[in-house]
Amino acid sequence: MRRFSLLLAIAGLPSAVCAATSPVVYAPDVVGVERMFMVALKVATDAPEVTVTVPDSVTMFDRQRPPFREEARRFYFRALKATPRAEIRFATAGGTITVPVEIWSFEDLRKFRTLKGVQLPRRWPLGKALPELKEKQIFPTGAEGKVGQGRGGYLSMSDERIWAMQPDSTIPRWHWVNIQHGCPIHGKDVYAKRAYYPWQLDPSTPWRWKIKCPVGGEEYPSNDFANGDMTRGEFPDDGIGGGCVRDGKHYGFIAELSQYYCRRMMTVAPDCANGYVRTGDVRYVHKALVALCRLAVEFSYLATMTQHRHRNTVRQVERFGPGRFDEGPGRIHDLSHRTARPANRSRAGLRPNLPRDREGSRHHPVPAKQGL
Ligand SMILES: [Zn+2]
Repeated sequence: MRRFSLLLAIAGLPSAVCAATSPVVYAPDVVGVERMFMVALKVATDAPEVTVTVPDSVTMFDRQRPPFREEARRFYFRALKATPRAEIRFATAGGTITVPVEIWSFEDLRKFRTLKGVQLPRRWPLGKALPELKEKQIFPTGAEGKVGQGRGGYLSMSDERIWAMQPDSTIPRWHWVNIQHGCPIHGKDVYAKRAYYPWQLDPSTPWRWKIKCPVGGEEYPSNDFANGDMTRGEFPDDGIGGGCVRDGKHYGFIAELSQYYCRRMMTVAPDCANGYVRTGDVRYVHKALVALCRLAVEFSYLATMTQHRHRNTVRQVERFGPGRFDEGPGRIHDLSHRTARPANRSRAGLRPNLPRDREGSRHHPVPAKQGL
């Protein structure tokens, strides 16, 4: 099962990440501000609780609780501010373990740099600023002459809710929960009525991060991922460490949901562009820009953090080079799953109206990440 290779490396272990004798099963070396990350330590199942101390650049938002089933304890953090070295300390019965993490700001991510001879960020034109910004209308749409009013849909959704539709790229995306084994309770019966994409997904926002079995109607995972609960219940899936593991099988509930939510997010800007062309209501332009800015933030992250392409850390990329697409699933997909075409289509419809939205933005500011 090649598609699980990266995630098994994280969940199962280790030598690629840390020395065989290290108690650190997994830890990232570089993360971005506001990103979540996991540290896993090798600790005996009957050992007492580990005391964790974090600097002010990091917060811990969850951790595995007893009873412990495996000799690896997981701790979940979020990066708060940029620093060259955030030291997280774990006090265990065997002594204190220090895990240093470097945290990059949004500006750090956008700096030109090379890694293993590869120019970063992976954004055209490589290593240079854009030669010019396209400002003239290319495809006339006729929308400028319309005075219609749109309603409902994304117009009635807050900017913040649209912003939150994009999953954090630190969460891997898979296709299928487990194509071979189906559901942890009902197995391959999930394919009985519908052979392709049988799992039921809820398109309502904010995302619930629950996927429903088409046979029993039970929902997975058991933890409340949407609210920072990474570990509770019988079928937990933290989205980072190889999915929900049952009897040695990996079920990517969160990974499948992440994939679905990413695809939903990609429909926002084109839908709003179409709404604008149909009605001339400039509020659609604003909502489309919110969606495009959110995607730009995420792509800016992925364009520099190439360890997310089938590697666990930046150090691994330095040793082995960037992962190839054919190494398996991760945060990258083929073109049909990417934003290139929908985003371009949106811009074609919206471009002549961007100045008009700058006026409207005084009342509906794009959330804090503009300046892209
Ligand atoms: Zn089921």
